[in-house]
Amino acid sequence: MRIAIVKKDKCQPKKCSYECMKYCPMVRTGEETVILGADSKPIISEELCEGCGICIKKCPFRAISIIGLPEELEGEETHRYGENGFVLYGMPIPKAGKITGLLGQNGIGKSTAVKILAGLQRPNLGNVEAEVAWGEIIKRYAGSELQNYFDKLAKNRIKVSYKPQYVDAIPRYFEGSAAELLASTDETGEASELARAFEIETALNTDIKSLSGGELQRVAVIACLIRDADFYFFDEVTPYLDIYQRVRVAKGIRAALEGKAVMVVEHDLAILDMLADYVHLLYGMPGEYGVVTMPKSTSRGINEYLSGFLQAENVRIRDKPIEFTAHPPRETLEERPIHLEYAGFEKRYDESGFVLAAKPGSIAEGEVLGGVGRNAIGKSTFVKVLVGDVEPTAGSIELDITISYKPQYIRGELGMTVKDFFASLKENGLTEADIIEVIRPLGIPEIEEKVITELSGGELQSVAIAACLCRDAPFYVLDEPSAHLDVEQKVRLIKTLRRYAERRTVSMLIVDHDIYLIDMLSDRLMVFEGTPGMRGEITGIFDMRAGMNSFLKELGVTFRRDESTLRPRINKIGSAKDREQKQSGKYYYL
Ligand code: ADP
Ligand code: ADP
Ligand code: MG
Repeated sequence: MRIAIVKKDKCQPKKCSYECMKYCPMVRTGEETVILGADSKPIISEELCEGCGICIKKCPFRAISIIGLPEELEGEETHRYGENGFVLYGMPIPKAGKITGLLGQNGIGKSTAVKILAGLQRPNLGNVEAEVAWGEIIKRYAGSELQNYFDKLAKNRIKVSYKPQYVDAIPRYFEGSAAELLASTDETGEASELARAFEIETALNTDIKSLSGGELQRVAVIACLIRDADFYFFDEVTPYLDIYQRVRVAKGIRAALEGKAVMVVEHDLAILDMLADYVHLLYGMPGEYGVVTMPKSTSRGINEYLSGFLQAENVRIRDKPIEFTAHPPRETLEERPIHLEYAGFEKRYDESGFVLAAKPGSIAEGEVLGGVGRNAIGKSTFVKVLVGDVEPTAGSIELDITISYKPQYIRGELGMTVKDFFASLKENGLTEADIIEVIRPLGIPEIEEKVITELSGGELQSVAIAACLCRDAPFYVLDEPSAHLDVEQKVRLIKTLRRYAERRTVSMLIVDHDIYLIDMLSDRLMVFEGTPGMRGEITGIFDMRAGMNSFLKELGVTFRRDESTLRPRINKIGSAKDREQKQSGKYYYL
């Protein structure tokens, strides 16, 4: 079985000479294997195509894929976005009384599956020509739990509650304050209680348009939770949230929806692990096709995902497994020469009254520091003082170095292509080889024809990280590099950063809220404590064990190590392990 994909966003018929048609051996013999569609883009016939692969190589924009698929997928199409468009195979199944997770790369079909189940999009079973009747859809799933589900969905007999992936779009269709938004969906009367649990009370009277990303995300999650529905769908819950808020929201969803059927898409593996009872993995090729696996227990599903091999499906999704180490990495760090040393300082903003107090510290050559702490605790302030953008109010920094910095919020305002943007960064002291080692694993070549203003959140993030690393500096600071990245991109990011730090013996500070990323990347931890918006304190730079312990103590959660993969797993709060670890003060490394 073979499918042909033409990526509409890459295909640029105005800038090529239809190489896909010109060089197709079938077209040359007079067959209509490639014809022109109404949009002047090619349509490749999957019946006539012989799979020679010439068009794939000849297309200057790499817009074409011809993919051989296993026969088992024949007739399993759930949805196809138009001729030569993305195909979704299989479907996840919501389970009563359980939380089902969806895990997979961006562009693999997770949102599509969720929208179908939420009744926002009718599946076409791969038939792109005509609308498919509900009767046919129900027949397709005969014998599975989905038969009953779609039957009820078609008759409007189930009620669903849905939180969309992109919360940024909410201000476009709702006018009013956060409290008004919540009042409009509050069917259970739990809005104020959840607002308190998610620490969002102070933002309730704020206009939706003025909420920060993290506030908007929490309001959106609450708005979904307080509907009285049979099925709940959350298309990602952690974007914009700091780690405290992530844990709180995960606990809140579990508590509020006890006994309901819930489905969650999530890229933060520690949070997914904590939330879900089962997971469906999605594999395939982003933008081309996605296959939904049968449900697996969460721990098994995540372990298989990390290992790169799906056992029941007998499918390899990655060459190499993702590995964790059980012990704080690279204990020999003390022997390394000190790379930079800063004095202690204090910074107070008169306008807001916020104070950051930092004890002196030093960073070793080639060292990667993890930075953890809530939002609005002074992380960016610390960096600005280091760079010299902001003068400390007391003490001095006594540091004069170049820092290449990727800020937390990035804006894609440049009206140029990714390729031109990177070309403009040349002459920066880095070798061609250095640059290739950064841009390739971050997926820049695949998006180089796109204009920066049109990039997705994840793509823009990758561009910003690559641009930061493409500047020659002894010290790199990346503020929330994992935001908007999927699991696979995070894995590649971790490898890239580690290799980069080691090869160029530069040091880094990586501020992030993804525990797995921090665990795999960091040699030591910089812990920011205090009260958000009021006072922040850097108590020091700790080894991983001490740093994680002090940080998790404040968070009130403990981690154990998964036996087979050594990945950190959040203990159920109040479980025997959790209590025992809290008592002995071992929050992280046993
Ligand atoms: P995920 O949620 O896993 O990131 P999506 O379900 O959003 O993936 O998208 C899967 C694929 O389908 C992507 O390649 C996307 O470009 C494509 N797609 C999504 N929505 C549409 C649409 N309305 N029309 C055409 N293609 C779409
Ligand atoms: P983080 O990076 O940890 O999210 P920041 O360092 O950006 O935190 O901000 C810490 C606190 O200082 C926040 O409450 C923020 O509103 C406040 N703040 C940041 N910059 C200024 C400024 N220029 N003037 C007044 N207050 C500021
Ligand atoms: Mg999605």
